[in-house]
Amino acid sequence: MTGGAGFLGSHVCEALLRNGEEVVCLDDFSTGTRANLAHLEGHRGFRLLQGDVAAPVTAEVEAAQVDAIYNLACPASPAQYQADPIRTLKTCVFGAATMLEFARSRGAAILQASTSEVYGDPQVHPQPEHYVGHVNPIGPRACYDEGKRCAETLFFDYRRQHGLSVKVARIFNCYGPRLRPGDGRVVSTFIVQALLGQPITIHGDGRQTRSFCYVSDLVTGLLALMRTPDAVTGPMNLGNPAEIPVAELAEMVVRLTGSRSRPVFLKAAVDDPRQRRPDITQARQVLGWAPSVPLEEGLLRTIAYFDRVLAGGEGAAAGRAMA
Ligand code: NAD
Ligand code: UDP
Repeated sequence: MTGGAGFLGSHVCEALLRNGEEVVCLDDFSTGTRANLAHLEGHRGFRLLQGDVAAPVTAEVEAAQVDAIYNLACPASPAQYQADPIRTLKTCVFGAATMLEFARSRGAAILQASTSEVYGDPQVHPQPEHYVGHVNPIGPRACYDEGKRCAETLFFDYRRQHGLSVKVARIFNCYGPRLRPGDGRVVSTFIVQALLGQPITIHGDGRQTRSFCYVSDLVTGLLALMRTPDAVTGPMNLGNPAEIPVAELAEMVVRLTGSRSRPVFLKAAVDDPRQRRPDITQARQVLGWAPSVPLEEGLLRTIAYFDRVLAGGEGAAAGRAMA
């Protein structure tokens, strides 16, 4: 597992250990934290290694017994992946290349955490996997979008050239406990602003849409994809098709927190996709998977988490948070 100290990765680590698997996690803690995994560090089947996924594999990683790799290492929040775009691109591309070569040397299956961002600002709605996307290759989001697209290319080239067992998940906006309060993503930002009684910062007119998937649903989908036969490669959309405009999300968060915060409308983000909603027909048919946690329920659980974080400090709540 790479990127296991992050939001999504920490829940994947937990789920794998719950299933009796052993997990070696590689993370550089650039956007994730040890606190996210503190509750797992004493676990017999768990090892945490610090390192850069884009660098050559170290002796410590080389020594690990591995039969399946989840490649999640990469910043996912636009604010964070745009802060050092060259590093983001290298993480996406060199990280994928390094892990694919490592998987090949072990005969291991490898799953890529790809993204709905490969569709860019989509002109087909909802987005099925065969839609090739609409990405600006030179804009500020490109380090992530094109990085993830190139990583997908590498995955399918390793499949064609070396017969590697690859699985590519295209993940749509996911939320839940262990999002970082200051990471800039919309759900964590709105909840923290609402709990602190600050203005809710809507970028643009708020009519742009997203479709939010609760983390436990997403993790179930990722594990199911990894368990599929060799012939199942994806790319496969994983997300919740329930679509909502950002301004409505703001209203919902304010209502669920009982906050007196009011929205403020700021400049729209450059190249911000206007709409996003997954077509999950393939995941339903191949995995028998569909999300089950409605947005309000997932938000209430996430609000409870941020309540604890703001009351006791991130470290205190981060480790204990269960989806
Ligand atoms: P996150 O930022 O919380 O976690 C990413 C983890 O990767 C962090 O622990 C970070 O320290 C680590 N990392 C970053 N660069 C690294 C590097 N060069 N070497 C080693 N470790 C590195 O993000 P997340 O939301 O948990 O996302 C996890 C993965 O899922 C990412 O690949 C992301 O692109 C993908 N994804 C997430 C979402 C979502 O909504 N959360 C949507 C689409 C795709
Ligand atoms: N957004 C917003 N206010 C914020 C953060 C984000 O209005 O404080 C908007 C953002 O412009 C985008 C949507 O919310 O339209 C989702 O943003 P996020 O950064 O969570 O993820 P994205 O889907 O863009 O990768």
